[in-house]
Amino acid sequence: MKEYDLVVIGAGPGGMTAAMYGARANLKVAMIDRGVYGGQMNNTAEVENYPGFPSIMGPDLGEKMYKSATKQGVEFVYGDVQKIELDGQKRIVKMDPEDITAKAVIIATGSTNRKLGIPGEEEYSGRGVSYCAVCDGAFFKDENVAVVGGGDSAISEGLYLANLAKDVDVIHRRDQLRAERVLQTRAFKNPKMEFTWDSVPVEIIGDENKVTGVKVHNKKTDEDKVIDASGVFIYIGNVPNSEPFKELKITDDQGWIITNDQMETTVPGIYAVGDVRQKKLRQIVTAVGDGGIAGQNAFEYISELTD
Ligand code: NAP
Repeated sequence: MKEYDLVVIGAGPGGMTAAMYGARANLKVAMIDRGVYGGQMNNTAEVENYPGFPSIMGPDLGEKMYKSATKQGVEFVYGDVQKIELDGQKRIVKMDPEDITAKAVIIATGSTNRKLGIPGEEEYSGRGVSYCAVCDGAFFKDENVAVVGGGDSAISEGLYLANLAKDVDVIHRRDQLRAERVLQTRAFKNPKMEFTWDSVPVEIIGDENKVTGVKVHNKKTDEDKVIDASGVFIYIGNVPNSEPFKELKITDDQGWIITNDQMETTVPGIYAVGDVRQKKLRQIVTAVGDGGIAGQNAFEYISELTD
């Protein structure tokens, strides 16, 4: 079994920063991901609130962070983690294709898009239903699209789609957006953005090949209507990717990992950073901050281990 000082699970902004800090402290670091590095940044069009970059595409920022980490000696390892086992001071990361051991582990597995769970959503996924404007937006040039949700993701990705699509209809379950003010102001000013308030999607409608619209129910008037759209982009929040760590009993009842402000879980040598952590503000900048703290603390923890 391959041995490392530090294993970081997840290569989003939190994980890449934690790994970089570990490597700079001269630890032998593996950064594991089951996909491409970058995490949710790969699904983010424009990032405007990461200092130093007035505006940068999410995947480009991911690329830069990856280079920062690997330049310091971080080894990127492909793997799909099933669980972490404790064996004395050893932390065994059980994964496909090959288990590895570490003295400390930083969990940076982030979160996954929440699904609406309505008829047509799964059926038309990839055929009009999308969770990633930056990946799929170009397919809907000059067409009508709908965006579901009222948070930062829905509005920022809706604004991105407005550059491509004919019209963007934001479907929100309340009559007020949750998104930050600057995004709200921009969205209300954009002539291509329309809003369907107090409404929840009840069915994604299609012609068997692709999406043609979305049926919504207005909770105030109790009426249903169909919004014509060839794309439906769903941004209704996230669920934590913490299933592999359930047995460690480090999550709250919704699955978010509980840490203290040093990113320590209740299990010695196991830390958590970024979106998978129970926290209020989930941003690239807070994930990066978590990563720096955890990387440094993991180094101190490993230094104090007795052989
Ligand atoms: P979010 O902030 O949790 O917002 C989810 C939105 O979806 C809310 O408007 C919510 O409505 C709605 N919603 C939830 N469940 C729903 C359902 N079943 N049916 C219909 N609507 C539903 O999620 P997010 O926008 O993906 O953001 C996640 C985190 O990333 C947040 O912390 C956010 O600040 C951060 N983020 C930041 C930026 C940025 O800084 N530019 C960009 C993207 C994401 P209610 O409002 O009624 O609850």
